[in-house]
Amino acid sequence: MGNVLERIKTIFDDEGPTERPDTERTTSATLYRCRGCETTYVGTDKEACSSCGESVEEIPSESDLGYGPAGV
Ligand SMILES: [Zn+2]
Repeated sequence: MGNVLERIKTIFDDEGPTERPDTERTTSATLYRCRGCETTYVGTDKEACSSCGESVEEIPSESDLGYGPAGV
């Protein structure tokens, strides 16, 4: 009996580290800003503005900079 419980505990201990959620950064979307009309987009793979067709540039997330969405 005791040995079985010990074995189960070992299995759970092994799985522990792999369950760690270290993907926090990948969940946040990338921010892009249009150079032409200064529209800000939130997406994952944006290259051109949908309004004016100008190329957009990737900008750091607002949370990284320390101010909220109302900062603009
Ligand atoms: Zn634009």
